Amino acid sequence: MIKNVFLDLDDTILDFQKGERKAIGLTFKKMGLPCDKETVERYIEINLSCWKALERGEMTKDEVLIGRFSMLFEELSVDASPTEAQNIYEPLLSKEHDFLPGAEELLQAFETSGKYDLYMATNGIPTVQKPRIADSGIGKYFKDIFISEEIGSAKPNIEYFKGCFARITDFKPEETIIVGDSLSSDIKGGKNAGILTCHFNRFNTPYGELKPDYTITDLSELIPLLDSIK
Ligand SMILES: [Mg+2]
Repeated sequence: MIKNVFLDLDDTILDFQKGERKAIGLTFKKMGLPCDKETVERYIEINLSCWKALERGEMTKDEVLIGRFSMLFEELSVDASPTEAQNIYEPLLSKEHDFLPGAEELLQAFETSGKYDLYMATNGIPTVQKPRIADSGIGKYFKDIFISEEIGSAKPNIEYFKGCFARITDFKPEETIIVGDSLSSDIKGGKNAGILTCHFNRFNTPYGELKPDYTITDLSELIPLLDSIK
């Protein structure tokens, strides 16, 4: 029986990529830099690769925040300050909180069901995540919110999960599942931590070596799935 549900935030509940695209376009505009669709997509790729490097312990958070812009500017041969870009970008990003389809309905269904304790498990920085959580009004659905920087480690590291588990009374790993869109942080992390894993596979991407215990392709499948786990 599942009691604790660790729910990822970005691209599981909130549409991070949509917010990211809007915020990066505005950042370039404010800096007086040209920005086309390709630039935005390249930023997204670079940013993702930086966060994956952080997951592998190859970059620190501060290196990610500034490094993603220095890499992009270098590629584009643009003479601009990565620190200035980060300082403009972060507050803009913190205002973006579009829901993914079915996400609000899912959170309301969790509240109605009352069977599960919901915990938010998110990699990110409090200055970005907290305003997004507050403005989207979703904080009330969660028993606790675990932002990696506040925990002192990030998914998929075992230290992140240990930090979260320590905050839950009568915690039992066998009653716990993590649900998220990322194989490298949510699913790998859940496996590292010895809890069940459910991948939100929105785009039906085929699996390689790393496979989750469960898969959903639509958020409406989640509660029936949890109810079925004995
Ligand atoms: Mg995610």
